[in-house]
Amino acid sequence: MAMTPEEYYAHALSAADAEGRLPVPAQAGWEIFPFEAESLRVKPLDQPILPEPLRNGEGDKPCGRCADPDKNVVWGNERWVLVRFQTPPGVPFMAMLMPRLHLDLGDLDDDMSAEMGRLIVRLDRAISALPGIGRVHINKWGDGGAHLHVCALARPAGLLQLRGSNLALWDDLLPALPEDVYAADLAMVAAAM
Ligand SMILES: [Zn+2]
Repeated sequence: MAMTPEEYYAHALSAADAEGRLPVPAQAGWEIFPFEAESLRVKPLDQPILPEPLRNGEGDKPCGRCADPDKNVVWGNERWVLVRFQTPPGVPFMAMLMPRLHLDLGDLDDDMSAEMGRLIVRLDRAISALPGIGRVHINKWGDGGAHLHVCALARPAGLLQLRGSNLALWDDLLPALPEDVYAADLAMVAAAM
């Protein structure tokens, strides 16, 4: 039986100090962790906020994608688009697969679900074929916006320190790709879709 939000919060706090700070994780000692453990202090854990605030594209909050459906689109078919980031990423490639309709993951019917699976595999192959790519990661978060956005991000070949789920954090630390490089890679991936 899953814990209620209050039970989960109490459970989490049981591992925290008097200020509500959880200990620095063991992962802070791993090679892939971007920061030095001695320099870190975990923020006090905030209390749960319920009901949660609306995301963009939920209730009366506008959806940026639906307001400007062609913005940053680099490939599309009748149902799906591949969307670039306005500013080039720090990692060697990053783009989002999104349905044209305002749907979240749980809203997809069987046909859309099956097509998304095929497109994700095609996207993974297309990005992997770019020169200098070590691995492609596919992520679905969605805490900011209700319009499904499946994010594909690529790790530079050889940079083993950037392996795993911290790649999204490294993306914020690394300098942005030159725009001409990002544009050329987007064109190659779009052509392979
Ligand atoms: Zn939308």
